Amino acid sequence: MKWFIAPLALGLAACAPSTAQTDQAAAPYDSTPPEITEHMPQPAVLVFSKTRGWRHNEGIAGADRFFAEFTSENGMGLFTTANGAVFNADQLARFDLVVFNNMTGDTLSPDQEQAFQQWLEDGGSLVALHSAGDDSHEDWSWYDTNVIGPQFIGHPADPQYQDARVVNLAAEHPVMQGIPADWTHNDEWYSFDSAELGDAVPLLGLDEASYSPENLLYGPVQDLRMGGGPEGHPIAWTRCLGEGRAFYSAIGHNHTSYDDPIYRRMLSNALAWVRARDATKRGCTRAK
Ligand SMILES: [Zn+2]
Repeated sequence: MKWFIAPLALGLAACAPSTAQTDQAAAPYDSTPPEITEHMPQPAVLVFSKTRGWRHNEGIAGADRFFAEFTSENGMGLFTTANGAVFNADQLARFDLVVFNNMTGDTLSPDQEQAFQQWLEDGGSLVALHSAGDDSHEDWSWYDTNVIGPQFIGHPADPQYQDARVVNLAAEHPVMQGIPADWTHNDEWYSFDSAELGDAVPLLGLDEASYSPENLLYGPVQDLRMGGGPEGHPIAWTRCLGEGRAFYSAIGHNHTSYDDPIYRRMLSNALAWVRARDATKRGCTRAK
């Protein structure tokens, strides 16, 4: 807890990686899988929130509450854990969907990473939130490159939380049904090193003229502009990998995002789309 007495206390209450913010309490890798009840309703969601980098206590709590409500309302099973040993073939087979709830740092052993990759590419479904797409995942190059893609370069730190205009980039995509063309949202806004997403489908972009995309506090990157219009600053996208599907959103530093009706709608849509297995693979490629 030493950062609360550091001179830069306010500035370090951010989610940019720093050794001062590392969650030292977490063991590097877990080896004993958790107990999971035999009576878990199906289909089931596994929410994983282990952190060995910055820990978003508020964002993790907000997402946990959202997934508890969502699974309850939809008669689905839910298992929430920070135990990386759950990533084994036998236990993963019990879940339709995995959520990386602000996971940070090197949380999984190579065997656990491989088990997850196999499960996803064989038809699994992933929802990855906020710092699950930051720059603390270099140890897992397959995930960093093929699931997330562009590299996180920073977020504004002064002020850290800003209103910004979020723009719907894919009105026809199943995840974007019922989502306005644009709206104002308050969050800690991530920037990435590139808007090139490869095979991914960008869903949301930021209007950089609507907030101050500058750092103004720490780290080597002060100007966080990615340039161009909202399509030049994507903050949420989908990917189809093998037989599996993934959704990533940079929104969600604070618990308040998970109370927002628009974002709750989008997450609900995403949970349906990543699990859908329609023959046309709607939403796997950009609309022509
Ligand atoms: Zn954050």
